Amino acid sequence: MKSKMVINTTFSVNTDCIACDTCHTIAPECFALTDDGEKAIVIKQPSTAHDYQKSLHALESCPVAAIINIPTPSSKADHER
Ligand code: SF4
Repeated sequence: MKSKMVINTTFSVNTDCIACDTCHTIAPECFALTDDGEKAIVIKQPSTAHDYQKSLHALESCPVAAIINIPTPSSKADHER
């Protein structure tokens, strides 16, 4: 049976984005440009280890550091259980 990994972080894109499309190229499951092509948005939070690694790669590859990865509030509580 395949176990599901719990990813306790939330990715977002801030206003520094220059719409270079690098994040979408690296992790198309999670990032896309808006319809007007003016910025990137998170279209889905990573729910698998594979998508999480690709999202982290996108974060590290962003030329203006516009991608943020924030631990979710529940991660501390989950860890303490
Ligand atoms: S890699 Fe960074 S600058 Fe480029 S589209 Fe994604 S968030 Fe915007």
